[in-house]
Amino acid sequence: MRFTHSNPVELLFGQGVLTDQAGRIRTLGSRALIVTGRTSARASGILNELTESLNNHAVQWEIFDGVEENPGFDVVARGALYAGRFNADIIIGAGGGSPMDAAKAIAVLAGNPGLAVEELLFPQKRTHLPVVCIPSTAGTGSEVTPYAILTLEGLQTKSSLKCSIWPALSYVDTRYLHSMPPGVRCATCLDGLLHLMESALSSRASFLSDAYAEKGLELVAPLLPVLRQNRLDEQQWESLAASSVLGGMSIAQTGTTLPHGAGYLLTVRHGLEHGRATALTAPVWLQIHPDQQKVGRLLAILGMAAVEDFRETVRELAGPVRLELPSELLKSYAAELMNNGQKLANHPGPVTAGDLEAMYREATREDP
Ligand code: NAP
Ligand code: FE
Repeated sequence: MRFTHSNPVELLFGQGVLTDQAGRIRTLGSRALIVTGRTSARASGILNELTESLNNHAVQWEIFDGVEENPGFDVVARGALYAGRFNADIIIGAGGGSPMDAAKAIAVLAGNPGLAVEELLFPQKRTHLPVVCIPSTAGTGSEVTPYAILTLEGLQTKSSLKCSIWPALSYVDTRYLHSMPPGVRCATCLDGLLHLMESALSSRASFLSDAYAEKGLELVAPLLPVLRQNRLDEQQWESLAASSVLGGMSIAQTGTTLPHGAGYLLTVRHGLEHGRATALTAPVWLQIHPDQQKVGRLLAILGMAAVEDFRETVRELAGPVRLELPSELLKSYAAELMNNGQKLANHPGPVTAGDLEAMYREATREDP
């Protein structure tokens, strides 16, 4: 076995960590641009606590709240202009994965004036302004990964930027999760679940990434049957947040594989939320995976006897799907995914276009 492991994020986890330890932000700079969406930072309570804490530590701040779901290049370029005009020296991503990823991209552009956003797709080491992440969802794990995933409007898909953008600091507080609408809560939990499964079943998995992934699965397992209910107790919120962090920690080492690759097209072209799109393709992927022993072991951690149980759980959490896409289109999506060398390389076995088409068929089929 041969692997490298690195995760430089300083993670502060627990209720009240932001208010109690906001002084850590002041060590990074004195002018913070808060990058967020329309509602998440406000509804979650992050914005109040954050701005008050920044005031208490003499950090000037401005808000850029133009980030939409699945952000693209335009919004990131606008955010970078905003950061430049404000002379920001810290970028804070507050909200779901969309604003956290946008914040990471803005941090690179603002740290490299003159760099065009498209250049972020060329593999190169880049410096960036320090990034702070404060999640209001539990699933993306972006607060502990070096990835920023943007929508490529021209190609109508999504891609991770080709440079590592680790947050310097992340604050995870379960209280910020309470305001998630049930649909967002389920979609984001499915995303986290798939990070854990894909990492463990990646060709790049190691005993260390497996340790994160298996612990994350253990924590999320008892939540899957109850997540649709309106009330979780504090211990359940904590398990959800911790499993999401562990999913991020594990994919930070291994990357994701076929379900994420397949899901991107369904999200950008058909508006299916990232977590739902990804998870709905997963049962077929589990069936075609070459290491059925490991698939069985992971399912057992989830308390499931077979892939069919996984399918039922995903369908229940994802809710009804009515895409009705023609089979020619699904064939073309499968052919497109066959060109995604990175996702294919992360799958430890041969894959055919027929396999990928079956993943798409499953994800887009109507409920019985
Ligand atoms: P999201 O796109 O950030 O947010 C989804 C919706 O939920 C938005 O309408 C948002 O509102 C709302 N919302 C979020 N938190 C809320 C809260 N606490 N209360 C009320 N509303 C809330 O969803 P996400 O699933 O967290 O992120 C998905 C993105 O993350 C995708 O772009 C995906 O590609 C990316 N991702 C990144 C990584 C990584 O490692 N970097 C990993 C997985 C996924 P507003 O937008 O109005 O604020
Ligand atoms: Fe994801």
